[in-house]
Amino acid sequence: MAIEILPARLANQIAAGEVVERPASVVKELVENSIDAGANRIQIEIERGGHKLIRIRDNGSGINKDELALALSRHATSKLKNLDDLEAIASLGFRGEALASISSVSRLTLSSKPASQDTAWQACAEGRDMAVQVQPTAHPDGTTIEVKDLFFNTPARRKFLRTEKTEFSHIDELVKRIALSRFDVAITLTHNQKVVRQYRAKQDSRSIERVAQVAGKVFQREASFIESGYEGLELYGWVLPVGSNTQPQYTYVNGRMMRDKLILHAIRQAFEEATGSQETPGFVIYLELDPRQVDVNVHPAKHEVRFHQARLVHDFIVQAIKQVVEPSSVQLPYAEHPPQPQ
Ligand code: ADP
Ligand code: MG
Repeated sequence: MAIEILPARLANQIAAGEVVERPASVVKELVENSIDAGANRIQIEIERGGHKLIRIRDNGSGINKDELALALSRHATSKLKNLDDLEAIASLGFRGEALASISSVSRLTLSSKPASQDTAWQACAEGRDMAVQVQPTAHPDGTTIEVKDLFFNTPARRKFLRTEKTEFSHIDELVKRIALSRFDVAITLTHNQKVVRQYRAKQDSRSIERVAQVAGKVFQREASFIESGYEGLELYGWVLPVGSNTQPQYTYVNGRMMRDKLILHAIRQAFEEATGSQETPGFVIYLELDPRQVDVNVHPAKHEVRFHQARLVHDFIVQAIKQVVEPSSVQLPYAEHPPQPQ
């Protein structure tokens, strides 16, 4: 076969395979973009589990009319200029792939108005070359991205979509995780026009009320607050005592939600060393460190990171968590009264 350059849509569809697994992954990418745009209000509207519609509105910086086409192109990003930036990345995004990928496997429209512009414009990418059409629209300051008919043109992916209920539960879980990544952002989630979640903005990043909204009153009542620092590493959050619920188990690194093996290993080890139990109860843990000390570009969906000083970070987490776990475990809190399931 002759060697040919792939048409833009096909190239983007191939790239989409890595990041756009299901409706919840679309929600993740779009909400992260809204957060990167400085929004403090994000509305997420879902219809039919995201099969039919995912619409994200924000009050962030917006996109200039003459950059709309770029926003929809692959390898186009406003968040990074050179390799040095990548070594100390502060934004959630930087790959410049999400909008191009999502729009190659759905019917995506992007409407936006920066405060500096008098009118709003809407863009969509059409055909095999994904040529961008731009037209005037009505929109307040900020951005709305509408994603309809996800995977309508990629039957292989579409086959893997689960029921509306299952897909929505993935979205709900994701929105919970995001809600705990930024307490200062108000987030509303609706499904089939019904409000399902409403997280109000809290100025205090250690507000247990926000945690309670996501993790429940029992978590609020039972969890111990933990805070610790060492050599530029800072950890804070909440952990449940051994014997209680195992949910939620959320971790964040510099505001980014993570499912990082090293962090989870350290947390398990801390509980095991402190209590002798293999069981790890629920926790919400935030780790902050110099962005230059962590490489976020190791996983397309950025669930994992690489710490330059992996051993130090691991041992710091173990010590920090052991400090709060040890004392409470001595009292055997639930020996006679096991906790009621929520
Ligand atoms: P990345 O987030 O990696 O830069 P994306 O494909 O997700 O790549 O987005 C491309 C660009 O479009 C972003 O760099 C940003 O400039 C712009 N953009 C996307 N979503 C928004 C939004 N909600 N508000 C403002 N700008 C946005
Ligand atoms: Mg992005």
